[in-house]
Amino acid sequence: MNLETIIGLEIHIQIKTKSKMFCSCSNSGENSPRFGEAGEPANTTVCPICLGHPGTLPVANKQAVEMGALMALALNCEINKTSVWARKSYFYPDLPKGYQISQFDLPLAVEGHLTIINHNGEKRFGIERLHLEEDAAKNFHSKEATLVDYNRGGTPLMEIVTKPDFRTPEDAKLFLQELRLLARYLKVSEADMEKGHLRCDANISLRPILSGAEGSIGEEKLYPKTEIKNLNSFKSVEKALTYEIKRQTGLWELGTPPMIQSTRGWDENKLETVSQRDKEESADYRYFNEPDLPPLLFNEEEIRRLQARMPELPGAKRLRFEEEYQLNSVDARMLVEDEAVAGYFEAVISEAREWLEENANTEGVSEEIWQLNRQRLSKLVFGWLTSELFKLMNETGLTILDIKINPENFAEFIVLLYQKKFNSSAGQLILRKMFETGGDPEHIMEEEDLIQVDDTSELEKAVARIINENPEQAAEYKKGKTPLLKFFIGLGMKEMKGKSDPEKLGELFRQKLGE
Ligand SMILES: [Zn+2]
Repeated sequence: MNLETIIGLEIHIQIKTKSKMFCSCSNSGENSPRFGEAGEPANTTVCPICLGHPGTLPVANKQAVEMGALMALALNCEINKTSVWARKSYFYPDLPKGYQISQFDLPLAVEGHLTIINHNGEKRFGIERLHLEEDAAKNFHSKEATLVDYNRGGTPLMEIVTKPDFRTPEDAKLFLQELRLLARYLKVSEADMEKGHLRCDANISLRPILSGAEGSIGEEKLYPKTEIKNLNSFKSVEKALTYEIKRQTGLWELGTPPMIQSTRGWDENKLETVSQRDKEESADYRYFNEPDLPPLLFNEEEIRRLQARMPELPGAKRLRFEEEYQLNSVDARMLVEDEAVAGYFEAVISEAREWLEENANTEGVSEEIWQLNRQRLSKLVFGWLTSELFKLMNETGLTILDIKINPENFAEFIVLLYQKKFNSSAGQLILRKMFETGGDPEHIMEEEDLIQVDDTSELEKAVARIINENPEQAAEYKKGKTPLLKFFIGLGMKEMKGKSDPEKLGELFRQKLGE
C-alpha cells in the first residue's frame, strides 16, 4: 500500500524572563527536573496570583511578550497588531485556577516559516501560529502520593504550531534542532529538551497516495491524527515518529486506519507508543476571552524596533562564513551550531588576517595567491579549533567561554604555525600548555625549547649523516623504492628531536638521494 506520512509539530518553549508570565515571582524557581536536585526549594517561588487565589489580577510580562515577538519575527511570522488572551478551562491539580491563560482566536503571530537543510538541500516548513501562555505546575507521582510543586506554575511559554508540512521523522528532528538554535541566538530560551525548556508534541497521520507515479501526492484530505507526547529528546522524536509510521501503516494494511483523534505517549524503555486517551477537541476547553487582561497591541514602530534588535541569525551566519572564510557548508554549520564558538572563530581569524595583511609582501603577488593564503589561514584556524582545541575542551569539560586561551593568543599560535616556526606535533604540545596556563605561544615555545630548526645547513648535515649511516636503504631508494622516503624523514625528525619541518626534511632527502 502506498501511503504518505503527514507530520505537524506543536512546540512549547520556556521563555527565559526574570519573572513569571503574569506576576513578579522569580522565573528561576523551576530549573530542576526533580526534587533534591539544584534549584529553588519546591513551592517557594509562588504568590497569590500564580497560585490562582480569588480576587487577584494578572499583569502580562512585557519582557515575555517581546521575546515571543522576537521569535515570531525570526520565524518570518506576521505579528498581529491586536492579539487576545484567552482562558483554556480544564481541571487538574497542577492548575489551581481551573484554567490556563493562553491565546486562542487571535494569537501573537501567524503565518511564518523556517528553512532547514537536510540531505537533499534546503527545505522550508510553514508555521501556523505562535502564541503565548503560562505553564502549569508540576506533579510528582510516587507510590504514596502525588506532590505538586507550584514553582513552575505561571512560567512564560511560547507555543509554536507548524503546518502539517513534514513528511519524514528526520525533517521533524532537524526542524526542532534549528528552532533550538534560533531560540539560543535570540537568547529567549536555553531550549534544552532534556531539561524541558523545549517540549514537543508530534501529530502524525497517513493517507493513501492516489496514483503510484513518482512524485505524486496523497489525497487532499487529512485523516484523524495521532498526537505523540512525552518526547524529551531529539532522538525520541525521530524514533517515536518512525515507530508510529510503522504502526499506522499496519492498521491501513489491515483496512482499519485510525478513525478518531487520539493521544499516545512515547515509552522510551519499550521503544513504542502507548495509547493514553482520545484527544479532546478544542471545544472541550471552553475557550473564551480572558476578562482580566487587555488585548496585546503592537504598532509598526514597535515591530521595527524589535526587528532592529534582531541579531544575525544562524542561517545568515552560515552563508556569510562560507563566503568570508571560504569554508564548506558542513564546516560553517559546525561553527554556527554554537554562537560562542562562532564568535571565537571570527575573533581569531580577524587577528590572524590582520597579521597576514601587515606582514605579507603583497607586491607582485596575484590576487589568486593572496586568496589562497587567506584560505590557508582559515583552514588552519578551523582545523586547530575544531580538532585540537575541541579535544582539550572535551577532556576537561570546559566550554569556549571558560578556556584560558584568548583569541589573540590563539591567533598568534596560528600565525606561528603558518610561518612554520614549529611543526604540528610541537604545536599540540604548545597548545596544551597554553590551555593549561593561558600563556602566549611564543613564550611557551621558547621555554619548552620547541622552536623549529630552520637552519638549512644544520638540516643538511643531519640528512647527509643519516644517509651515510643507512647505506642499504639509500641504495634501495635510488633503485626506485621511493616510499622509503618516509623512513628517512622519520629518522630526520628523531635526529632533530621533532623540532623540524617534515616537509622540508623530505625535500632535502629527495635532493641528496637523487644525486
Ligand atoms: Zn507568582
